[in-house]
Amino acid sequence: MWIDTHCHLDAGEFDIDRTAVVARARAAGVQQIVIPAVAAENFDTVRLLAHAHGFAYALGIHPLYVMRATEADIAALDEALTAHRDDPRLVAIGEIGLDFFVKSLDVQRQQWFYLEQLKLARRHRLPVILHVRRSADQLLAGLRRIGLDTGGIGHAFNGSRQQADAFLGLGFCLGFGGTLTFDRSLQIRRLAAELPAEALVTETDAPDIPPQWLYRTAEERAAGASMRNEPGELPRIGADLAALRGWSVDEAARITRHNALRALPRLAALGASAAVTGSEAVAGPAPGPAPAPGPVVGPAAAAAAGR
Ligand SMILES: [Zn+2]
Repeated sequence: MWIDTHCHLDAGEFDIDRTAVVARARAAGVQQIVIPAVAAENFDTVRLLAHAHGFAYALGIHPLYVMRATEADIAALDEALTAHRDDPRLVAIGEIGLDFFVKSLDVQRQQWFYLEQLKLARRHRLPVILHVRRSADQLLAGLRRIGLDTGGIGHAFNGSRQQADAFLGLGFCLGFGGTLTFDRSLQIRRLAAELPAEALVTETDAPDIPPQWLYRTAEERAAGASMRNEPGELPRIGADLAALRGWSVDEAARITRHNALRALPRLAALGASAAVTGSEAVAGPAPGPAPAPGPVVGPAAAAAAGR
């Protein structure tokens, strides 16, 4: 059984067939999904979705959303973390971080929201789920400055081996997903193959970061083809990881699951109940309407890069 440590199940791309997407994930062997928030407006949405489906969630303000966030959103995050502190499905603060790839984002503003949210993680004793894009060193500097010792996950990790080792030294795991399925992803495939086994967790970042078999060219997308990713793709991505490591698929599932429970300790308490729901979902008829073709996802760059 697999854990998808990062899936934006609340994204609009899933509005047309979310129930079927969840049923396909369970049928494929995905036992647990962590749904990170991106802005104060979707705190309730991710919490309710997690409860409706037996999944987990994280609350935070994503770096790509800080331009329209305000100081009041930090207060709202603090309030939500306090209100739901006893909710076993609230497993982390996220998705937070820094994005230095998108040039239109104000660096100062990103840093402010990142550090304020690290302080909340420290105060609420929760791990963090980090968005890392050309920002590994600055993320590490923030973790050291705030003295966060609750660890978490560096999601869709794309830094160097040295940066990876620094995250591991601070108690983090690193998330690997669809990108490792592309032959041309040399650096990420090398990291996935060579990092210590205890570093690795699996994720889809669905609906973004499609694996190689869902990739469509710009021409195909212009003609209406979708390359929407979904959590049911995780076991196949995990099989690619197993091949890179020389593990059996079962070993890959077991090791990455164990790591996810260590990085996000509250997941451990959810395991048993989610497994029951999962086997029921596999045994019973798939709820909801038959899977419809997904809508065309947004700009190719955004879909390939993830949120
Ligand atoms: Zn994300």
